[in-house]
Amino acid sequence: MIDTDVIVIGGGAAGMMAAGRAAELGSRVLLLEKTDRCGKKILISGKTRCNLTNTADIKNFIAMYGPNGRFLHGAFARFFRPELLSFLQKYGLDTKAERGGRVFPVSDDARDVVRVFQKYLADYNVRIVSNARVSSVSLDQHSCFTVGTASGRYLSQTVIIATGGASWPTTGSTGDGYAISAGLGHRIVAPKPALVPLVVREQNLARSMQGVSLRNIRATAFQGEAARVDSSRTPDCDYGRGEKKFPRPPVLESRFGEMLFTHFGLGGPIILLMSLAVVEALDNGPVSILIDLKPALTGEQLRKRLQSDLNKFSKRKITGIMKEYLPAKMIEPVIALAGMDTEKPAHQVSAVERDRIIDLLKALRFNVRAPLPLARAIVTAGGVALDEIDPRTLSSKKVPGLYFCGEVMDLDADTGGYNLQAAFSTGYVAGESAAGFARSLLRA
Ligand SMILES: Cc1cc2nc3c(=O)[nH]c(=O)nc-3n(C[C@H](O)[C@H](O)[C@H](O)COP(=O)(O)OP(=O)(O)OC[C@H]3O[C@@H](n4cnc5c(N)ncnc54)[C@H](O)[C@@H]3O)c2cc1C
Repeated sequence: MIDTDVIVIGGGAAGMMAAGRAAELGSRVLLLEKTDRCGKKILISGKTRCNLTNTADIKNFIAMYGPNGRFLHGAFARFFRPELLSFLQKYGLDTKAERGGRVFPVSDDARDVVRVFQKYLADYNVRIVSNARVSSVSLDQHSCFTVGTASGRYLSQTVIIATGGASWPTTGSTGDGYAISAGLGHRIVAPKPALVPLVVREQNLARSMQGVSLRNIRATAFQGEAARVDSSRTPDCDYGRGEKKFPRPPVLESRFGEMLFTHFGLGGPIILLMSLAVVEALDNGPVSILIDLKPALTGEQLRKRLQSDLNKFSKRKITGIMKEYLPAKMIEPVIALAGMDTEKPAHQVSAVERDRIIDLLKALRFNVRAPLPLARAIVTAGGVALDEIDPRTLSSKKVPGLYFCGEVMDLDADTGGYNLQAAFSTGYVAGESAAGFARSLLRA
């Protein structure tokens, strides 16, 4: 006998919201979670502060998901930021907005967000089975789903797949949902890493500057070998998701802000933002990243300033002069790249050497070898193809009674709270729709 109306597979942000909402509407809900507890990814999100959503208006909000963002209009029309914030407040969680419109719990503690969902699920008697990894879902001729786990099988009228992407596997998201969905006839857009640090060919150079965090710089991704890229094409405004203007080839994306050097290459906020464009462009050929360390100055202004310093402090070593221009750990690597001796006094620096330094300050060049693996990405791009899902209900267009929500779908966004809002919104709508479908079966 079927004693469950809705089975939710996966207890992340999307699955917990879906389970709670379906139960709130009167469905008997079973939540199957592969790990020992729900909400593990929420706990590490926003550096454990959980950036829940963003204050951006709907148009700019949707733009952060790229072309697939259109799909979210339906879910956002039903449950968006105001609804999310009042839901959280109802459960005692106050929020605050910070720089860039990022919304966090006032407590700065992601555990408080998980506590809200624990209470929500308990309030509406959602049955949770943890350590239950779903390995198969099938549908019999009576439109009843059988959900298989190592410890047993569960029957239900409807199933919601909320298994997340394939990144950060310690939180439970290992891409299981793709095989389950494909087994039910759904097309999967190849998963790829988004919001991911980049490995460069110039690893020794990156390693020599490891740990240096740069602010107020411009990084620009170009299609092409670093040595061949014309640095004068570096734009003076941002291009990329959520920006109004589109880049002209060979520019792929350009961002002003913070980045850092790691032992393998490049990381930090603006590199993560550019990473999906880089990953996609790597399929078409070499990709390079040029870093303008002094974007506020033109090459000519920088030349005048450096020449004046070389004249004024003519007895100082070049390394001493460069203290005004670079973080300490970058000075020797940059001087070496310019082919100069670090001991050289300023008055011996030739015009050619000075110009080489200027070139490096305006365009420090790296060739991207690859992104870090999918497991290390903040989100997974790709997933269950959206054209097979009804955006208003999150129901499968192929299998009646099947629903999707969260990152398992071919949806991903830049940082700023957008990924979690999409998970909450699609979870809410999937839960509501599955409950409605189960109710309609009872009436039939
Ligand atoms: C380090 C990090 C920081 C982040 N910070 C932010 C942030 O501040 N703001 C933001 O908006 N986004 C952030 N994100 C992204 C955001 O956390 C995710 O997009 C979002 O949590 C996805 O929610 P989900 O419910 O779809 O998937 P998940 O949270 O991945 O949940 C999926 C759940 O399904 C379970 N599961 C998987 N397979 C099975 C199976 N076979 N059987 C049963 N259960 C299964 C998993 O164990 C997991 O609990 C961050 C991501 C990372 C990795």
